This record gives sequence, C-alpha cells and structure tokens, in this order.
Amino acid sequence: MNDVLENELQCTICSEHLIEAVTLNCAHSFCSYCINEWMKRKVECPICRQEIQSKTRSLVLDNCIDRMVEKLNVEMKEHRLTLIRQRTEKRNMLVKPATDNERRIISSICSILVMSGFDSEDSEENSYYNESYCII
Ligand SMILES: [Zn+2]
Ligand SMILES: [Zn+2]
Repeated sequence: MNDVLENELQCTICSEHLIEAVTLNCAHSFCSYCINEWMKRKVECPICRQEIQSKTRSLVLDNCIDRMVEKLNVEMKEHRLTLIRQRTEKRNMLVKPATDNERRIISSICSILVMSGFDSEDSEENSYYNESYCII
C-alpha cells in the first residue's frame, strides 16, 4: 500500500485513518466524530480555515479505507475497531438530549406531585384547624 494514499485517508484531527469519513465543502475530509467535536468550538475547516457550510458522508472513502485496513496487519485492524467502538459509545452518551427530555418529564411529574402535595397539605391544614377547633 502506498503511503501517499494512506496519508490522504488520514484524519488530521486524530491522525487515524478516517472513521465514518465526512467531506466538507472545502473538500477536506475528517472523521465524522472528530469534525463534530471540532465544530463545537469552531465552524471552520481545521486545515484551510474555510467556513464549514456543508458536511457530506463519504461512503466512497469509507469503503476505500475499509478495504485498505483489510490489508493492514491485525493490530491495526483491532486498533481501528477499538476506536470505532469507543466513538460509538461516546456518541451514544452524547445522544442524550433524550435524558434531557426524561429530566423534563421527571420534573413535570415532580411538579404534579408537588401540586398534589399542596393539596394534601391543605387538607392537613384543614384537619389541623378542625383538630384545634375541637380542642377549643
Ligand atoms: Zn479523526
Ligand atoms: Zn478545508
């Protein structure tokens, strides 16, 4: 395998072979994970600093890298698989606006409970008044 092609297929952010390659409008490619992380801070290409206007998943690159990695040694393959697994896990952790929703649901349930709690407090108050009235 020639080094030139291998360099072309490398992500400049993580220095690994591209994982889920994404090509920007400036034609530079990065891992989907890396560029997403990068874009949290900057919306410009890490290489040429052009503003990022579009990201396109590049299945051609993916296939190309997969085929290339197939030819690499087992160590490299495992290394890549580990990276993919780690990133999928991280992304699953990041995809937790779901928990935000859950939190919102929980807090609304809580406020309902609090409201019904007020109700019972009221009745407690009433019974207290009743009791004190009885004592008097
Ligand atoms: Zn990367
Ligand atoms: Zn660029």
